Amino acid sequence: MNLTNNPPRLLFLYSDTGGGHRSAVEAIIEALGLEFPGQFEAEKVDFFKEYAPPPLKFAPEIYPIVSKNTRLWGMSYHLSDGQRQVDWATLAASPYLNLACRKMLNEHPADLVVSVHPLMNSYVRQVVHRRHIPFATVVTDMVSTHTLWFDKKADLILLPTEIARQRGLELGVPADIMKVCGLPVDDKFSKESISKEELRKQMAWPEAQTQLTLLLVGGGEGMGPLAATAAAIDASGLPVSLIVIAGRNQRLQEQLEEREWHIPHMIYGFVKNMPDLMRAADVLITKAGPGTISEAFIAGLPIILYNRLPGQEEGNVLYVIGEGAGTWAPEPAMVVSVIKNWINHPDRLAETTEASKSVARPDAARQIARNLMKLVS
Ligand code: UDP
Repeated sequence: MNLTNNPPRLLFLYSDTGGGHRSAVEAIIEALGLEFPGQFEAEKVDFFKEYAPPPLKFAPEIYPIVSKNTRLWGMSYHLSDGQRQVDWATLAASPYLNLACRKMLNEHPADLVVSVHPLMNSYVRQVVHRRHIPFATVVTDMVSTHTLWFDKKADLILLPTEIARQRGLELGVPADIMKVCGLPVDDKFSKESISKEELRKQMAWPEAQTQLTLLLVGGGEGMGPLAATAAAIDASGLPVSLIVIAGRNQRLQEQLEEREWHIPHMIYGFVKNMPDLMRAADVLITKAGPGTISEAFIAGLPIILYNRLPGQEEGNVLYVIGEGAGTWAPEPAMVVSVIKNWINHPDRLAETTEASKSVARPDAARQIARNLMKLVS
């Protein structure tokens, strides 16, 4: 409880392991500003990069390398996903990260600490609670939620889906500390905007008349067989334009730029205007990242999932298919055949577009903001 007259200070913990955690924090801080202008202070800290000792300090650099080995990634995810394993990991991590947590709290005094990362919960919460500061978690995996997300002694756990809440209940998390709000997404995705045509002109997208404009993105790190998927679309002879986002993967960006293209295209590195890009496109082709998928729902884009991380992204694939909002096409040739099918059957494309719109939760970030502020008022 904040007993002073100063606005409450909210400290958000994230890390750039992928792009989703940072996007979630930025969306929540933006929503706080819209709902509670001038009534709070917020800071965001990449806890691993700024405070953790090695090797965790290098987590943002290590993540794209390690997650490339999908078999090893999947095995580690499943083997570590259980209460006993998480309790042991917390016990082992505490002495290693205790000092880092204390230093961070000294340098960023807060009235509420909010984690949006699965690896920053129980051991951080222990240090935070010792200082009598409330601790909340915003879960940013949509469906397959690792045990690491659920600390039973957290003050509040905000979840993206009912399926994630059920998982919390199975793990014995008290029902009264969990709430389903949706996955936080930048408010700009929901704003009225200029037409697709004008957006495309503004962004200098190729002007050639094609039937569909496809947006291809592999999360913040340009992950999965993105180059092979782009090449298959380019070679397909289909009447499409292709916009590719390589994210922070510079080698991929160069490789794509050097390619001899046959279709109208545009290559980007890491973009800061994803709402514009999504609203200007007709179809999204992506790895099954929860952030990108939730944004696509709000932008009303039909989704082709070309890749997923084993473990935390497996459920997202089932969710998208189950809602009729998209399809799973793990081979470049399958991606091409889905596009062909949608070109030949515009009714199927329209149905998928509508289904995608219908599962959008544009209010999630604001709901999260309101729930967090309740903890400090
Ligand atoms: N993103 C972005 N610019 C880029 C690529 C990705 O802003 O060039 C954002 C994207 O809009 C989403 C996040 O990064 O909010 C990616 O999150 P997701 O959960 O889909 O995947 P991750 O990168 O965390 O694996």
